[in-house]
Amino acid sequence: MGEKKCPTCGKWSSWTNNIHESCDHCGASLGGKDLEYHLIREKEAKANHEKWIFFIKETDSPFVKNSKIVGNFFYTIYMAIITFIVWLIAMMPG
Ligand SMILES: [Zn+2]
Repeated sequence: MGEKKCPTCGKWSSWTNNIHESCDHCGASLGGKDLEYHLIREKEAKANHEKWIFFIKETDSPFVKNSKIVGNFFYTIYMAIITFIVWLIAMMPG
């Protein structure tokens, strides 16, 4: 258990190192800039993830979902082969 100075009202509020906790006095988020940054990073990570070509969305039709699962599978195999070839080249003598 600790205390954190509220970035909004400036009073000290009890804080358990949880970035999502709010101030005892004014109810504002205690995370302040840290929380903003944290949320932005989370959003970016999510956006990057959804840009992935085989990302399966809830709104996809069953056909699209299956195509993506198959695509993802072959992509994984493809990457494994590439990794193996790179490893083989690295292992080659001289
Ligand atoms: Zn406050």
